[in-house]
Amino acid sequence: MTLKNMRHVLIILFISMLLCQSLYALDYVNKNVNIGILVDVSSTVVGGSQNFTILDSTGKKLKFSKGTITLSCTQEGIKVNSYSLHAPITIFPSNNIIFVNSQAYNGYLCIKKLKNKMTVINVLAIEEYLKGVLPREVGASWPIEALKSQAVISRTYTIANFNKHKDQGFDLCSTTHCQVYGGLSHHTHLTNQAVNETNREVLTYKDKVIQAVFHATCGGHTDSPEYVWNWQDIPHYLKGRKCGYCNNAPYITWEQVLDEHFINEKLSQNNKIGKIKKINIKGKTSAKAAKEVEIVHSKGTINLNAYQFRILVDPWKIKSHTFESIKVKNDKIYFKGKGWGHKVGLCQEGTKGMAQKGKTYKKILLYFYPKTKIETIKFI
Ligand SMILES: [Zn+2]
Ligand SMILES: [Zn+2]
Repeated sequence: MTLKNMRHVLIILFISMLLCQSLYALDYVNKNVNIGILVDVSSTVVGGSQNFTILDSTGKKLKFSKGTITLSCTQEGIKVNSYSLHAPITIFPSNNIIFVNSQAYNGYLCIKKLKNKMTVINVLAIEEYLKGVLPREVGASWPIEALKSQAVISRTYTIANFNKHKDQGFDLCSTTHCQVYGGLSHHTHLTNQAVNETNREVLTYKDKVIQAVFHATCGGHTDSPEYVWNWQDIPHYLKGRKCGYCNNAPYITWEQVLDEHFINEKLSQNNKIGKIKKINIKGKTSAKAAKEVEIVHSKGTINLNAYQFRILVDPWKIKSHTFESIKVKNDKIYFKGKGWGHKVGLCQEGTKGMAQKGKTYKKILLYFYPKTKIETIKFI
């Protein structure tokens, strides 16, 4: 081989490597996702509006006409009417619609058994799953461009977090821990339209699907995950941005009063503390949230990461770690703050504000996740 030929081969190899790298990141995405909709239950009611079939792990097959049946967990396996089945069992509806405790879901069910409890997993196409997420994650009355941006980030989040609940035998749960999912019963015309109009679109950065974290209301500026989750090597798209579009959100400012006893009990799970006398806000993140809180108590002082403090106490009662003031008075603790959520990534109320100002979903996404690209994935 001549030197010139060799150079050509090397160039072709290099281009192929680049292409392969890019394709590998976006191709080979599973068409289906496994969602844990009930975890550790003793019994559940399932059913179909048409015929459905149950298949157990030994190959035993039971056919049912439309209606409901009760599944219960026994020492040996799963009991259905008078039949005893070996777990895991799979339930296939003939019309792709299955009911669990009166809620309708697309796809089919896989029911696994662990330590005499059942986990009910809904297996369905990602695009169908997203139609059950959007109405629960954002209001179905939101502007279409905001719904479309949520569709893209929910799809991106799903693909980047396959196997998040691997230990429990499914991909994602159906709560705020992953993404809130309500199934077919919650579908709306507009949220379905948002999923359809962004079909297979995801956000990528350097040819990889991004970690599309998002939250409800940033309160003015999104934050870097280094302060919140102590991440290192923060990608450019998650470094935090000025928002200014969530000023009309319900929790743009909030106040909360909690009993000293309530907070003390929560913090005492990890630290031995006396009566809380004062809570000082220590340091600011780049988004003007608190870095730490210093808790002065009758037996000493402890410092906690401000976000962790919120999670330890109660993330529903303390809406964010953007504290404006924390005062202790007469066994009560008074909080004033801004925004709702961890403040990292896209601000959902900000997308609503941007869409109301006429911005397209592509502009919105590239604003909150700068230097990313919108690309189309292929399912297998
Ligand atoms: Zn989860
Ligand atoms: Zn915002």
